[in-house]
Amino acid sequence: MSQREWIEKDFYKELGVSSHASADEIKKAYRKLARDLHPDANPGDTKAEERFKSVSEAHAVLSDPAKRKEYDEARRLFASGGFGQGGGGFNPGAGGFGQGGFDINDLFGGGGAAAGDGGLGDIFGGLFNRGAGGGGATRTTNRPRRGSDVETETTLEFREATLGVTVPLRLTSPSPCTTCHGSGAKPGTSPRVCPRCNGTGIVSRNQGAFGFSEPCDDCRGTGSIIDSPCEVCHGNGVTNRTRTITVRVPAGVSDGQKIRLAGQGEAGLRGAPSGDLFVTVRVRPDKVFGRNGDDLTLVVPVSYGELVLGTTVSVPTLEGRVGVKIPAGTADGRVLRVRGRGVPKRAGGAGDLLVTVKVAVPQKLDDPATEALKTYLEAEKASGFDPRAGWAGA
Ligand SMILES: [Zn+2]
Ligand SMILES: [Zn+2]
Repeated sequence: MSQREWIEKDFYKELGVSSHASADEIKKAYRKLARDLHPDANPGDTKAEERFKSVSEAHAVLSDPAKRKEYDEARRLFASGGFGQGGGGFNPGAGGFGQGGFDINDLFGGGGAAAGDGGLGDIFGGLFNRGAGGGGATRTTNRPRRGSDVETETTLEFREATLGVTVPLRLTSPSPCTTCHGSGAKPGTSPRVCPRCNGTGIVSRNQGAFGFSEPCDDCRGTGSIIDSPCEVCHGNGVTNRTRTITVRVPAGVSDGQKIRLAGQGEAGLRGAPSGDLFVTVRVRPDKVFGRNGDDLTLVVPVSYGELVLGTTVSVPTLEGRVGVKIPAGTADGRVLRVRGRGVPKRAGGAGDLLVTVKVAVPQKLDDPATEALKTYLEAEKASGFDPRAGWAGA
């Protein structure tokens, strides 16, 4: 099994477990499948035989905590696009990794020359091959490589998001360790080719009638062994680099929106262009305002009397306050529109402010007010008003 296959295969799916499955769940799932698919139980069934091999392969990786961790990490980095999408931007035309039709070599725009394991050796050079010894890493090391896209998130206050803001972003992303230049080996030493798998990262084993291939235990599938690990990256060949950039967030962004900053991702190698930075914006809810597209929403408490007689109330907007006229006889819950006082639009102008009136009922009234209200209710009745006239439940 090549490293490339290792990433392309969904071992969790093979075993029918979730990627969060416990060691126990994995063991159980494997045992059941192994029993069902065992060649002794399915003589002459080549499909079952194939499945049996795949399941065993999946189990070999997932049952080993170290291998599983490495596998998860590689898949996570791959799925997140952390290793660069040659085509740039989100949702590559192929439908993304994991759909079956995605060719790893597409990532580099490489094609022919990069075919085979060379492409993957390039991507995972730091993680798997540790820069030397394994697969085709050495063949491709000198090729320029577009920098990886980077994804990050920032949380804004409601008003910052609606009005636009400039925020500093601290980015931490893996990059080749500068001490060992990505080899993972202490300066002055170098990784040696794993003698057990001869640098392939794979060992074959015969079990009964079958030959199995699985990641080499000695080198954890990397093909090389580091006798004295680099002290800075602990043999990973990768360290986290932190940088701060300033991002101008345009007015009117909404929660969950992604902003693309071209060329702000990881630097390219050997003169290749940088990747892009994608910032997902999170917006904290506001105490006063809500948002509906470009419109701002606001609830204003009013008294019954104010709705009956009409009044003007002062309400906040994003900038300053505005008087909202409530006409006499306005129903509770009605929405009043203040044009142009909503969220600024990118094309110019702004949405509206939608003010909902909501009657606040006094919980306690003093004697004069209570008396006045009683007198009022009698007068209201005498005038012929019946709140439940025409009500279906009457
Ligand atoms: Zn290092
Ligand atoms: Zn090995």
